[in-house]
Amino acid sequence: MLVDAHCHLGDRAFEADRDAVLGRARAAGVAHVVVIGESLAGSERAVALARAMSGLSATAGVHPHDASSWSGEVEHRIRELLAAPEVVAVGETGLDYHYEHSPRDTQRRAFEAQLGLAAELGKPVVVHSREADDDMAAMLRTWGDRLPAVVLHSFSSGDAVWEAGMGVGAYFSFSGMITFKNWTMTDRLTGCPPARLLVETDAPYLAPVPHRGKRNEPAYVGEVAARAAALCGESLDALAQRTTANARACFGARLETVL
Ligand SMILES: [Zn+2]
Repeated sequence: MLVDAHCHLGDRAFEADRDAVLGRARAAGVAHVVVIGESLAGSERAVALARAMSGLSATAGVHPHDASSWSGEVEHRIRELLAAPEVVAVGETGLDYHYEHSPRDTQRRAFEAQLGLAAELGKPVVVHSREADDDMAAMLRTWGDRLPAVVLHSFSSGDAVWEAGMGVGAYFSFSGMITFKNWTMTDRLTGCPPARLLVETDAPYLAPVPHRGKRNEPAYVGEVAARAAALCGESLDALAQRTTANARACFGARLETVL
């Protein structure tokens, strides 16, 4: 049994065939999918999906790309969504200085507000970080002690974020990137504390080999797990058991419901 710790199942890429996608996930041994909210509308969709089905849970938050949309009203509604039992974490939030779809200071403000919500409500926070290592490391150090858990999703950051993440006991979630030929960070995967490793798809993005370039889907977390097991020198079964237990420890009892 596997958990896909990060999937944008509410994305319009799945509009036409979401049931079939979930059927294939179930057939591939995926027990649970964490459905990510990346905007207010996306969080509403994620929560609706998780309410309708066991084996799904949701997060609620605003992605750094959309940080400009953050406002008092958005915060109010995200806070309401976070009170639902199906909603297991704040996010995805964070900093993305590569695309900079929202200005950097706007991203920092929205991220900080969401870290504050997570601390106040006692929820884990799902973090996106790209080319913002120094600011991210500083924010993690400032907030880490006040958060029940931090998930560094699709981990591919440099030393500063790695060290800050290790310092706050973060979960490191690895995606299909670990199957790519140009993946060079195997030492991060093998150096990750055993109880802090998660696997994810980030579907519909980042499809693992041999599906690279196509739409990703939760069934393919199996490919990510197989590659992680090979790199860590353990059986797929052992890695699946370990990462599933880690996801449950991180996100809570909702993760025990199965597809
Ligand atoms: Zn994502």
